[in-house]
Amino acid sequence: MLKGRHAEYLDFIRLTMVEDQVVRRGVKDARVLAALRKVKRHLFVPAGLVSTAYDDHPLPIDCGQTISQPYIVGLMSELLCLKGGEKVLEIGTGCGYQTAVLAELAAEVYTVEFFAGLSRQAAEKTAKLGYTNIRFKTGDGAAGWAENGPYDAIIVTCAPATVPPALTAQLKPGGRLAIPLGPEPQELKLFTKTAAGLDERNVCAVRFVPMLRAKD
Ligand code: SAH
Repeated sequence: MLKGRHAEYLDFIRLTMVEDQVVRRGVKDARVLAALRKVKRHLFVPAGLVSTAYDDHPLPIDCGQTISQPYIVGLMSELLCLKGGEKVLEIGTGCGYQTAVLAELAAEVYTVEFFAGLSRQAAEKTAKLGYTNIRFKTGDGAAGWAENGPYDAIIVTCAPATVPPALTAQLKPGGRLAIPLGPEPQELKLFTKTAAGLDERNVCAVRFVPMLRAKD
């Protein structure tokens, strides 16, 4: 009984989170908003932090990493302009929350995480929730995941100093790359691959964990 009430409460808080934090700040893509309303973010945060899962800020997860602020997940998902049939590459699986949102929005999701433990936990959680369109890999995401490319869209949720060349190489013509670049606070950038090269747009200032390299 109490458990049922608690679940209902969390569902209510999630809908409120989408309105207050995401819609109000200007995210409009109806499919993105539906995905944020559906995916139970509280199932992805550490057990002790369930009560703060829908707060307006990032949260710590294992390995000194973070789960992004809900608004940033919405904003970055919207930037990719997904319609449902796409193949998407995510760099920085983390707890798998953004991954699950992408799995709602695209046909196939490939996700690369530096830490094997985080990748394993995210794979277990998303499998339990019934997602069958996600493939996980542990490694340095700066190399992308060439075997399954090219991709319609690439999202990077850790910040390198400059765009890793492998990522733009694995993008389809017309494909979009959302990536935070530089030292904190980073600039969130959207690159679009055109016949003339890469079109670059600054989106806003953000705070992401740095992209780790194999030597770190
Ligand atoms: N999208 C995640 C955000 C996780 S934070 C979410 O919504 O929860 C960024 C993640 O990037 C961390 O899990 C970190 O371990 C991972 N990361 C850092 N450097 C990386 C690299 N070189 N390759 C792949 N993942 C990396």
